[in-house]
Order: sequence, then structure tokens, then C-alpha cells
Amino acid sequence: MTFVTRFAPSPTGRLHRGHAFAALTAWTAAKAAGGRFLLRIEDTDFTRCRPEYEEAILDDLAWLGLDWEHPVRRQSEHRADYDAALDRLRDMGLLYRCFRTRKELMALAGMAPHADDPTDAEAFAGGPLSDDEEAARLASGQPFAWRISLAAARDRLGDFHHLTWIEEAADPGIRTATPGELGDMVLGRKDIGAGYVIASVVDDALQGVTHVVRGEDLIETTSVQRLLQALLDLPTPSYRHHPLLLGPDGKRYAKRDGSVTLAALRDAGVAPEVLRAELGF
Ligand code: GLU
Repeated sequence: MTFVTRFAPSPTGRLHRGHAFAALTAWTAAKAAGGRFLLRIEDTDFTRCRPEYEEAILDDLAWLGLDWEHPVRRQSEHRADYDAALDRLRDMGLLYRCFRTRKELMALAGMAPHADDPTDAEAFAGGPLSDDEEAARLASGQPFAWRISLAAARDRLGDFHHLTWIEEAADPGIRTATPGELGDMVLGRKDIGAGYVIASVVDDALQGVTHVVRGEDLIETTSVQRLLQALLDLPTPSYRHHPLLLGPDGKRYAKRDGSVTLAALRDAGVAPEVLRAELGF
């Protein structure tokens, strides 16, 4: 059996224990299957990604004892591939420009602008503007996002019930995608072009990834990516969504918490094999 998996970090900060756990999970799965392990740098968003973080990712993963195939695919070098996919969706009439700011979206969803979780508001995108209003906003140079119209996608595919994937993690079986959970998701922006959701799904196909091994925080994204596979005629890999590593406080690790970066552990003299053992590898 061919087994190709990948670890696909975005260089927006230093790696922490949670990343180490995710990378080791994917790498170990590849080794156990006698398969291939790829490292992919997901740096399409140049407003958030920094080259020094990319360098640090390579250093940290090597320190951890991982190896990967070369060359490493860096998404910023392949924008044309992702923009072509975005263009295809646009030509099919499945995208619309969204000019609304986060504040406007929250107002639309009837939430206070200081609400803690803007996710619901962002999902409620409000659909396309009238032609006149869109022309006016474009003429004034306003920024916008490209959102997928789930209504248009549903018109094209019938319904979404046949969009399934094989889940091989904790609760294995056939899963049915529910793209509606994230609403009309943003797939690109005026400034950066295609974003990571579409770039990642295009690359998984292009790189022949057979198994996507990643954290369960991305399971809703998988539903949208399954929809994109159907719309773009891309193959569907198997998925293993692993549980997220939790810190001593019971919360998931986050990039902003500098104390638990792999760099901090290295500086404190922690040996990589000690960390691996702690993480269960
Ligand atoms: N680049 C994404 C992230 O850092 C991961 C995407 C994926 O594994 O498919 O969250």
C-alpha cells in the first residue's frame, strides 16, 4: 500500500509542544506504514508568515529527530496553482466578493462587536452585494475576501450527502462532510490571493498525499476541503484527525504562549528524546 502523509505548518510563529505532537504523529504513521513523509510550508498569507519562522520550523523538527523529503514545497512559490483553482471556482460561479469587515459581519449576525467568538458572525457572510454596490466598493479600492457560495455549490452538486471521507482516527468510519458548519468560507483575499484552505487541498492532490494526519481542530475545514475536492475533481485522501495535546491547565497549546515553544525547551536543556517520550513517542 502506498502511504504518503505530510506535516504542513504555517510559519506564523515558533513551534510548540502541540506542533511537536502533530508532527511526530504524522511522521510515525509514515514510518509505521513504510510510507513517505513530506514537510510543506503553508506560507500563502504574507501578512502573517515570516521567513525566520520557517527557518526555525526546519531547525526545531530536525532537533526533534524528524526527517523529510526534499525539496520542501513552499506554497508562496506556487501561488499560480492555487489561484488557478480559485479561478476555476469563480468561472463556475461559485465565489463572490465579500467586502464586509469583521465588525459588519458581527452586526449582521446580531452579535455585539466585542463578542468573544466571532466565528458564527464570520460564517454568516450575508451573500453577494448588488452589482452596483459591488462596483462602487471596487472603484473605491476597498479590500475584499473571496467566499464560496454554499448555495451555488449545492445547486451544482445536488446536495452534500454524498461527500464522504474515510476517517481512520479515534472514531474510525465513513464520515459525511457538513460544509455548512463554517458557512460561506473565505477561500482567498484581494491582497494575498488564494488562501491556505484551497492551497492545502490542491497540494494534497498534487503531492499524492494518501493520508492527511492532522489535529481534530481542522475537522470542520476537512468538510469544506471535501467539498472543494468534489468541485475541482480532486481525489479524496483518507484522514486521521488526532486529538489535540492539552497543557497542564487543560487548554490546547497556542502559538502566543511563548513559554512552551520548542525553542524554550531547547534553551532550558530539555533533550529531544525526553520530549518525545513525554509526548508518547
Ligand atoms: N497550515 C495549517 C496550520 O498550520 C495546517 C493545515 C493542514 O495540516 O492541513 O494550521
